[in-house]
Amino acid sequence: MHLAIVGAGMAGLSAARELLQRRPDLSITIYEKSRGFGGRVATRRRNGFVFDHGAQVIKAPDANIERLLHAELSTEELRRIEKPVYVLHADNTIAEGDPALNAEPSWFYASGLNRLGKLLAAGLDVRLGVRIASLRREEGTARWMLFDLNGAHVGTADAVLLTPPAPQTAEILATSDFDPGLRDALVRELIHVPYRRCLTLTLAYDRPIERPFYALVNVDRQHPMAWLALEHTKGTERCPSGHSLLIAQLAGHFSVQQWDAPADELAAAVVEIVSIVLGEDLSRPLWYDRQGWRYALPDGIARASVLNTMQTGLFFAGDYIAGLGRIHLAIKSGWEVADAIEAWLTR
Ligand SMILES: Cc1cc2nc3c(=O)[nH]c(=O)nc-3n(C[C@H](O)[C@H](O)[C@H](O)COP(=O)(O)OP(=O)(O)OC[C@H]3O[C@@H](n4cnc5c(N)ncnc54)[C@H](O)[C@@H]3O)c2cc1C
Repeated sequence: MHLAIVGAGMAGLSAARELLQRRPDLSITIYEKSRGFGGRVATRRRNGFVFDHGAQVIKAPDANIERLLHAELSTEELRRIEKPVYVLHADNTIAEGDPALNAEPSWFYASGLNRLGKLLAAGLDVRLGVRIASLRREEGTARWMLFDLNGAHVGTADAVLLTPPAPQTAEILATSDFDPGLRDALVRELIHVPYRRCLTLTLAYDRPIERPFYALVNVDRQHPMAWLALEHTKGTERCPSGHSLLIAQLAGHFSVQQWDAPADELAAAVVEIVSIVLGEDLSRPLWYDRQGWRYALPDGIARASVLNTMQTGLFFAGDYIAGLGRIHLAIKSGWEVADAIEAWLTR
């Protein structure tokens, strides 16, 4: 039996890992459009600086995630955020955050949060740089053929697990050739999951910027900035000594507004916002980096009961099945779909 997985993010990698632990006889190929593992859990390197420009930290609110991080995967580089998160209000005032939330440990990896993807991907067959564009039933069988953007046939499998964000998964299905009634029902379930966009602007400085908090979060969603992290507080591996790194994640409405703005105009606007918030002139960064996340966080949910019907050999996983963009929820959705795929294999 051969399973194809589209996407080497948290959901795809954890589903593959879980299935291979239970069914070592299963053959799995993962197709990933980008050049690395982890999807939105992403790290960039630049001029001796290392920064997590997607997800910032992982929480382990239950025993299974705790076991994964602290017992199953290497803990060599696993570190805890030591400083609290404070709250940023719409009027730029800052207040101490919720003590209960701050008491929950937040974790990261010293060399970058994308180490989590690398650890999960160890031993898996991942074909990087392959973007799956459509699927089709193999003639005369119930198997699935996978095609890339050029229409090239890249693989055939008994079952396919799709893990891109819901609208991207809907796009793949919409151009696929199989039972139109079923296809349209699946697309309908996926296409309406709204996602928040997020522009991430990283700013590097050649001087220390210290505060009593690791990050600021805007909870009333009225501020143009949803999150501001002092990335250098993650440790000495993150930037040269005496330097600082700020990560500004812009709010959904502001990101949409600024999506097509030239990078230098965006940087100037963000520097002004950050200077006001931190009460310090930050107008001369060493450099800045812009990243646009079109599908940053799901603001809605798709029903696993509608998607993972067990009829077709098509399966679905990702944070949108939980309805909330969190690493641990994407991992759990990978584990849950592994249950469904295992049941399908033994049907
Ligand atoms: C800016 C930002 C900050 C965040 N902060 C946090 C945080 O601090 N803590 C937290 O817990 N969560 C955070 N999140 C949310 C978290 O990153 C996601 O919920 C989680 O990583 C989603 O995992 P996934 O596997 O569902 O999807 P993804 O990570 O999107 O994985 C899907 C994979 O599929 C690949 N793919 C897409 N289309 C195709 C195709 N056609 N063919 C092949 N491959 C394809 C993609 O490249 C990607 O690797 C943040 C997200 C963003 C964007």
